[in-house]
Amino acid sequence: MEFKKCKRCGAFFVSNNSVCPNCEPKDNLELSKLKGFLTENECPNSIETLASSTGISVKNLNRFLAQEDFSSVASKLDINPNSNINIQL
Ligand SMILES: [Zn+2]
Repeated sequence: MEFKKCKRCGAFFVSNNSVCPNCEPKDNLELSKLKGFLTENECPNSIETLASSTGISVKNLNRFLAQEDFSSVASKLDINPNSNINIQL
């Protein structure tokens, strides 16, 4: 167990998760939304499109897509973990 700062809201908490207990249900909801979307749809070619299609922020998408489950999706998208967002049209 470590003392951590929540990746969603910035609250400090003690857990092995990357988000605090308050944000965990939101994370799980968005993760299942993302998985559902990717099951039913072609993967968009940009993370911005994925964000607007799912309603999940680019910041959270970057975090989710860093998980091993999504490695094939992340490899198709231009993932920038530091999320300095440059929308290229
Ligand atoms: Zn939180």
